[in-house]
Amino acid sequence: MRNYTPPKKLLKIGESATMKAAEKARELRAKGVNVISLDVGEPDFPTPKPIIEAAYRALNEGLTKYSQSQGLPELREAIADNLRKIFGVDYLPNEIVVTAGAKMGVFYALTALLDEGDEVIIPTPAWPSYFDITKFVGGVPVEVRSGEDFELLPDRIDKAVTEKTRAILLNYPNNPTGMIYDKKVLENVAEIVKRKELWVVSDEIYCRLVYDGEFIPFSKIEEMRDRTITINGFSKTYSMTGWRLGYICGPKNVIKEILKVQQQTATHPPTFIQKAAITALYECESYVRNMVNEFKIRRNLFYDGLRRMGFKIKKPQGAFYIFPNAMDVYSEAENFSEHLLEKVAVSTTPGEGFGKGYEKHFRISYATSREKIEKAILKMEEFLKR
Ligand code: PMP
Ligand code: GLU
Repeated sequence: MRNYTPPKKLLKIGESATMKAAEKARELRAKGVNVISLDVGEPDFPTPKPIIEAAYRALNEGLTKYSQSQGLPELREAIADNLRKIFGVDYLPNEIVVTAGAKMGVFYALTALLDEGDEVIIPTPAWPSYFDITKFVGGVPVEVRSGEDFELLPDRIDKAVTEKTRAILLNYPNNPTGMIYDKKVLENVAEIVKRKELWVVSDEIYCRLVYDGEFIPFSKIEEMRDRTITINGFSKTYSMTGWRLGYICGPKNVIKEILKVQQQTATHPPTFIQKAAITALYECESYVRNMVNEFKIRRNLFYDGLRRMGFKIKKPQGAFYIFPNAMDVYSEAENFSEHLLEKVAVSTTPGEGFGKGYEKHFRISYATSREKIEKAILKMEEFLKR
């Protein structure tokens, strides 16, 4: 093989920390180990039947060709309708771009915002891909640590703003903490955004997975609509991770630039998949409700188990993650995830990828059956007793 030196932009980024943990569990399973996976963030529910049937129909109807790069107009109409109905958010179809997953959405939004060297404030802990995508498109991630209970601290964000800051990247319900932010805190962030003339990228992919409290889209905070690029998608709400479908909402002038990026890369997500997503938005509300009810039960189950083990964590309000500090119960906290996998075959995601200072935390995804959760809790208890 010839020598190959990757370009600098690739040397700046690493593998996906969340995908890596899941991959490790998969390898062990292939070797015959009975691993309980609490790693990757993916609902265990099947994609609702009506969506699958709609995809079949779309294929048979010949939706196998290119469509509009911005996304099928009827899908963008359906997204706008859904946002209006559920959250009272008003976007026109031409203020929406349909993307191949929310991850592409984050990539497009940051590509459209950042010049080389521009800083993005990322409250931590945060989904690891934010750091890498920011770097990949030439930006500089600036980590701002959240409070002890993972509350957003606007004062810290304010102090982190420099001449080079271009945007703040928010994510709530949060991966990995499950926290949502209340109106007052969001208004405090909005005040900084206005005063310092910034943009907000608000990743709201877990917006429907809320168990306590109220989710408020950032674009609904006064005067924020014109400064917010919202990322969302179908992966979590409709259990469609493998379909790769997401969307971006934002002001028309930014959307126009984002569309250029999509035209020159993905072109658009598969046409028949876009068609099937219309069915998700109009016909699958009962599936979403059932899934949310079940996730709430699982959250309580895992949370109670962790408290019994001695973890001091506050109850997460949404998404399907818990991010405990292993220091609460284990002296070699930095290796907790690794030891848990080695000793009792329970796979979690190590905390280090979620930001500096979270090496002693680990992420649990409770998007798995109650039975597996109960087993995992027993195994964790057994591990801690040794
Ligand atoms: N944002 C967050 C916060 C996530 O946890 C994920 C993980 N799935 C994504 C975006 C990407 O989702 P998608 O499958 O739509 O690319
Ligand atoms: N977002 C999910 C997670 O955090 C899926 C993996 C990924 O896209 O990084 O586990």
